[in-house]
Amino acid sequence: MSNNQDLILLNQRISPGECKTINFSFAKLYTSTNVEIPIIVERAKAPGPTVLLTAGIHGDEINGVEIVRQVIANKINKPKRGTVICIPILNIFGFLNASRVFPDGRDLNRVFPGTKTGSLASRVAYHFTKEILPFADYCLDFHTGGAQRFNASQIRIAPEQEELKTLANVFNAPFTVYSSNISKTYRHTCDKMGIPTLLFEGGKSLDSNKYIVKDGVDGVKRVLSHLGMLSDDIVVPVVKTAPVLISKSRWVRAQKSGLLHVKIDCNKHVQKGEFLATITDPYGKMRIKVTAPNEGYIINVNHAPIVNQGDAIFHLSTESSTETRNEDDN
Ligand SMILES: [Zn+2]
Repeated sequence: MSNNQDLILLNQRISPGECKTINFSFAKLYTSTNVEIPIIVERAKAPGPTVLLTAGIHGDEINGVEIVRQVIANKINKPKRGTVICIPILNIFGFLNASRVFPDGRDLNRVFPGTKTGSLASRVAYHFTKEILPFADYCLDFHTGGAQRFNASQIRIAPEQEELKTLANVFNAPFTVYSSNISKTYRHTCDKMGIPTLLFEGGKSLDSNKYIVKDGVDGVKRVLSHLGMLSDDIVVPVVKTAPVLISKSRWVRAQKSGLLHVKIDCNKHVQKGEFLATITDPYGKMRIKVTAPNEGYIINVNHAPIVNQGDAIFHLSTESSTETRNEDDN
């Protein structure tokens, strides 16, 4: 979609230079209330690529919704060339219920590309894949850790894809994490359609974290600037260090059930054997130390106050590298 013709999205015509909010409407609540997913489309007069921003595929992942909201509220989505399409909440049903999933328990991010007559989640995926996704040249999709698991700001990409690696470096989250595409995810469908996609992860569900949101919004500005789309009125955030590339990682799990007391911050680099947390019983008798099984970066911390044996409590890198930046870069 790099021409400067009218864009016809869900039967609505959007000309170059126009802005339109289109309601993607596909089902009603059982109260007969219409469910509408607002899609905010901003087109520049000048031709250029189309970038699609999505959040709320998991309805309880608020940081992503807030990132896309700020992008719209601060007019970052008004490009100087091309088109920016913003969908702050894709899973409206989950958002209404403060839930990750659809009312029937289906995870929208496990039913792509969907089917016309499948479950409600599958139908949303189907119409989205058929009617919106084909317009996108690049996708940015915003997520958080599940439940109380707090993710360091990170871009997830499939390994060994140079274009994605370049875009992840441009986005400049503190971490770029290699993670293979899982079947039936949004990212997998984008990959099959040949649309370069960055998946941002930051923070935890049902939480709004201003530092994570800033990382996300700054990344959007950098990517739009890289594509020559960012309005001249908006300052591109300074890049200080290149992201740490994490090519392999592991979960550190609770050896015992009990109360979890975390002693280390997310994003930290730790040494093998470093003290990370204690797990205690509620009665003042049992107390065990959790230590780092290897040297690495902590990219997820579980904020749950209580854990069961086997629960993931830290995500720790096992293989990482930092690219040295060229001094001519700015
Ligand atoms: Zn998610």
